[in-house]
Amino acid sequence: MLGKDFQLFAFLSRRSQGEHRNVLRNVLTVILLSVVLPLVAQISKPVVIAHRGASGYLPEHTVEAKVLAFEMGADFLEQDLVLTKDDVPVVMHDIHLETISDVAQRFPDRKQSDGHYYALDFTLSEIQQLRVNERINPATGKAVYAKRFPVGRASFQIPTLEEELQLIEGLNKTRGRVVGIYPEIKQPGWHRQQGRDISRIVLAILRRHGYTTKQNLCWVQCFEVDELKRIRFELGWEGRLVLLLGSGRRNSDGSGAGPWFTAAELAELAKFADGIGPALGAVVFGTSKADRKVTDLVKNAHAAKLVVHPYTLRSDELPKWADSMDDAQQLLFNEAGIDGLFTDVPDLTVRWLSAHGKR
Ligand code: CA
Repeated sequence: MLGKDFQLFAFLSRRSQGEHRNVLRNVLTVILLSVVLPLVAQISKPVVIAHRGASGYLPEHTVEAKVLAFEMGADFLEQDLVLTKDDVPVVMHDIHLETISDVAQRFPDRKQSDGHYYALDFTLSEIQQLRVNERINPATGKAVYAKRFPVGRASFQIPTLEEELQLIEGLNKTRGRVVGIYPEIKQPGWHRQQGRDISRIVLAILRRHGYTTKQNLCWVQCFEVDELKRIRFELGWEGRLVLLLGSGRRNSDGSGAGPWFTAAELAELAKFADGIGPALGAVVFGTSKADRKVTDLVKNAHAAKLVVHPYTLRSDELPKWADSMDDAQQLLFNEAGIDGLFTDVPDLTVRWLSAHGKR
């Protein structure tokens, strides 16, 4: 009887060990599927960055444009940031107000001698009185992009950075997705000439909202390389950094001063930045589909371990070298090998990536 019990115990014990191994294997599988693979996918799958929100459909940088981009499946929502007179970062593209708001009608006597209405001359409460419109050319009063949201229709406002971060946090909670942010420090050198340290103010807000390391879905971007260095070394930012690049380092025919960034310069940049945000023209060169050529910029950036997120794809202003959105996206994602794209039409970029197994 004792022997039988012992045999039964030994059997159960063996079985239990086997079950433990199974459980362990299952746990490891779950960890692999739920934690490791998504991280790998996140690194290797291109990201969709909603340029000023879904700005192809609603006035740029409005809350409405951000909500729409969120629902279109964008991975990151962009914020361009400038300061108000009372040092509040607001989400708008230019340091001037007249191209995207009714400031000239509402505050006609606040125009500077150069013809501009500077955000820095207005308090937040004044800026909150403005109505935002689709971007216009102030000389003609006409929309810059004729097919976009009608100028002067409906009611939109300029949000603060803080309001926008709260909006995205709220949507991430209620919609069950984690969408990242992509804040750009606008003209930090100019802000400092005016006695303002925009980077320091913006970074404090980002940190307060939990964006502190490279694990967080936040790319801080800037056109000014010295400021980017300062952000990393002097202001101690430990999150992701992108240097924005124009396409102005070559002549328009492709001749001239060599590559937009040399391999050596990119290696130097990689000491403090995590990626570059070049103009599309620095990634694909050409004036037509017939003469287009992928430059070596992405290859060189990848060799330096920098990601490449070019700007900006627009369905109503295609690059000269593409004859359709699909054509442009095929070239950028498949041939140039970019890691993400600033797009005014996030729905079309999400759709293309999904159709080609990249999401
Ligand atoms: Ca920007």
